[in-house]
Amino acid sequence: MATKSGTKCLHEGYKPTKGEPRQLPIYQSTTFKYDTSEEMGKLFDLEADGYFYSRLQNPTNDAVAAKICALEGGHAAMLTSSGQSANFFAVFNICETGGHIIASSSIYGGTYNLFGTTLKKMGIDCTFVDQNLPEEELAKYFKPNTKAVFGETITNPTVNILDIEKFAHLAHSHGVPLIVDNTFATPINCRPIEWGADIVTHSTTKYMDGHAVGVGGCIVDSGNFDWNAYADKFPGLTTPDESYHGITYTERFGKGAYITKATSQLMRDLGAIQSPQNAFYLNMGLESLHVRVQRHCENALAVAKYLKANDKVLWVHYATLEDDEYHDLQQKYMPDGTCGVLAFAIKGGREKAIEFMDKLKFISIVTHVADVKSCLLHPASHTHRQMTDEQLKEAGVDADLIRLSVGIEDVNDIIADIEQALA
Ligand SMILES: *Cc1c(COP(=O)(O)O)cnc(C)c1O
Repeated sequence: MATKSGTKCLHEGYKPTKGEPRQLPIYQSTTFKYDTSEEMGKLFDLEADGYFYSRLQNPTNDAVAAKICALEGGHAAMLTSSGQSANFFAVFNICETGGHIIASSSIYGGTYNLFGTTLKKMGIDCTFVDQNLPEEELAKYFKPNTKAVFGETITNPTVNILDIEKFAHLAHSHGVPLIVDNTFATPINCRPIEWGADIVTHSTTKYMDGHAVGVGGCIVDSGNFDWNAYADKFPGLTTPDESYHGITYTERFGKGAYITKATSQLMRDLGAIQSPQNAFYLNMGLESLHVRVQRHCENALAVAKYLKANDKVLWVHYATLEDDEYHDLQQKYMPDGTCGVLAFAIKGGREKAIEFMDKLKFISIVTHVADVKSCLLHPASHTHRQMTDEQLKEAGVDADLIRLSVGIEDVNDIIADIEQALA
């Protein structure tokens, strides 16, 4: 049995037996064949389990989702076409027009826009909060129509660490689930469900894929949230769905209610499915996730220490550093390390930052993080350039913050590249 994460990376999800392919097959098929009309009808009524159309489900995708589910210690999971669609589905599955969510203001810029702008157009309000406030302060932001609380294990790009237990307690004492985006930590370094999170999301585009090959996302449900205990808040799960002859998800599917609804309603209607080809690449990435993450963390810590000791550097933020303000939370939630991403600023502000970045040799400027090759980005000029200075401040993104994603190259070469650019 696969008990350790490193073994799960290789053996969960797809388990071939006698004469079956050693590697996960790509079911490159839009549809699936049945012998009788009755068999097919049962699938449409959710009375039988099975595949019928790859806009809803595909066997390659499901094997990969099952692997991620096992890594996170969840009950059920699904792949989505991107991290954006994962976070959208995770919220929209339980929150409709007239609803409200609470999210940390330090989250990824794309998610900030999704929650603050696009969900707003759909009649869903989001209150962004400072995740470091004490629980009593955060409690003041709840409204009768609040449906979920959202945060990132390690925030992108500020690499702050979420106090998951505090957020879980806060959400649960108000009868709503905690959704945690675990993209940066990955289940190798942190499993939010063990700390009380109910739903975990991923941009698999980052470390899980790891090679900058395919955009993708994943939603994992712990199965732990008791929707029926707060039935009035979550009618989509606890009252009949007329588009499936009046079945009630919690009644019919129990712990599987949340993912079944997201698949049979949201995937059916919105179609943000990952292609099976991309799911295959994602699985290849997952097979070495535990090895890569460890190396990313070792390299990033060495680079963080180097930067910290350099007098051209203004500040470095990497929670594994002993004097970092998030070190205690790092020790509690991810003692083996955080991720390969760190944030720092060099003296001379915005101008010097850009000059430094342009001088780098193999560390490249790309709109990406968390893959095997080192890269960096200046959020104020790139990912977050749509934000006002006020919003940047609220998100904790200094105008001189450089986000460095340390890859798995030889660490001496990485440091040498930084050194020549600083000079
Ligand atoms: C990149 C990212 C996303 C969005 O994922 P895509 O796959 O680019 O859609 C969401 N959350 C976090 C933390 C990310 O880093």
